[in-house]
Amino acid sequence: MPLAADRWIEVTPLGLHVPEGGFHVDPKRPVPLAVVSHGHADHARPGHGCVVATPETIAVMRARYGPDAIGEARPLAPGEVVRLGSVEVGLAPAGHVLGSAQAVLDYQGTRVVYSGDYKRRPDPTCAPFLPVPCDVFITEATFGLPVFRHPATADELGKLLHSLAVFPERCHVVGAYALGKAQRVIRELRLLGYDRPIHLHGALQRLCDLYRDHGVDLGELRPATAGAKGRAREDLRGQVVIAPPGAIADRWARRLPDPVVALASGWMRVRQRARARGVELPLVLSDHADWDELLATVEELDPKEVWVTHGREEALIHALAGRGRKARALALVGYDGEEGEASDVG
Ligand SMILES: [Zn+2]
Repeated sequence: MPLAADRWIEVTPLGLHVPEGGFHVDPKRPVPLAVVSHGHADHARPGHGCVVATPETIAVMRARYGPDAIGEARPLAPGEVVRLGSVEVGLAPAGHVLGSAQAVLDYQGTRVVYSGDYKRRPDPTCAPFLPVPCDVFITEATFGLPVFRHPATADELGKLLHSLAVFPERCHVVGAYALGKAQRVIRELRLLGYDRPIHLHGALQRLCDLYRDHGVDLGELRPATAGAKGRAREDLRGQVVIAPPGAIADRWARRLPDPVVALASGWMRVRQRARARGVELPLVLSDHADWDELLATVEELDPKEVWVTHGREEALIHALAGRGRKARALALVGYDGEEGEASDVG
């Protein structure tokens, strides 16, 4: 008789804890042994004794936190399985950012898949989400409301290219989270044929270098260092500048010549949010599953139970219950959801 998942996975203030394996999943504070789904700051914290993650996620953590931020690294490639205590742990691509993975946990005949953050639409900068059949699927619900249906990526970035054509004298500054979104925006622009140099805020350089080191071709990138004291950099007219979301409304952005302020985020679906942030050109571009993707993923996996970690869990649970599915909220706290909405510039 398989052991029910709620008998061997605990919800704690630090996050999910698996006592039989001696590890936490995406813990909020330093622990002896952590399985980390991906490098975003709300999932990957520095200071763990040992980290089990994909090689890319470990590289991201070291790039962001320093080479000594992890005591011991145990890189686990997708498809490999490691035994932690008496629990078997594997990783499967989550399609969220470079190196992002779902954790596949097997114990006493029950398989639990923890999605971490994920999306289903193609992303040219990371491996696609791999559906793994399981008994319990633990899903995020950042955009778990029917209003959130992300438009086609090419259409959104087409708006940016259109604006560049209409306003050739204006600098176009695009707010994009430093890990994942920035590189995806650049790569998608390249795929749409935009081959001019793209200018980077200094905070994005290191992670763009890391993506390049992992084979993601970002084309020619140049630093967007500000002009001499208070003067706009005239050579940035008609150019694309990518900057962290926190920088686009900052003094830094005022040095850009007559900027069109854009922001690439799933939250740009909500017009008030765009207005509140002074965004002239909202680009609805998310690295999270939208409402349809959340529901379709559950249908595809057909698990016995769904647990929802963070986001708009009530609506998703209600919708799943309406489809005859057993679903419950874990009410995990401390996961920010869509990156770029927070003031995080890292
Ligand atoms: Zn994330």
